[in-house]
Amino acid sequence: MHPQLQLLVALQDMEGMIREVQEKSEELEGMGFKQGGLENLKAARDELAGKIEPRLMSWYRRLTGRFGHAVVPVVNNLCTGCFNSIPSSFVSKTNVNKVQKCESCGRILYWP
Ligand SMILES: [Zn+2]
Repeated sequence: MHPQLQLLVALQDMEGMIREVQEKSEELEGMGFKQGGLENLKAARDELAGKIEPRLMSWYRRLTGRFGHAVVPVVNNLCTGCFNSIPSSFVSKTNVNKVQKCESCGRILYWP
């Protein structure tokens, strides 16, 4: 996988965790989970985001704003964001040096 793509997938996972922790923060505090955990997560997220090319970050932000999920896995040659098929010509190119996006919906694709 393209190293930048790996970072984007990790970033998206981490932001999902942050959202979850924020939503459940009261419940979690009741379980003894301190707010410090959230701060640590955010610091790790910022560090990760700092390693991603600005061009990709703005792309990622736009997609997250529009769809919620910016980076989606390709399963059975389908984009799992919009369920359109991905041309097989994409598949061979993917693992090389390019971050690919779905031609139909524009989401960033990865092959898990
Ligand atoms: Zn798509």
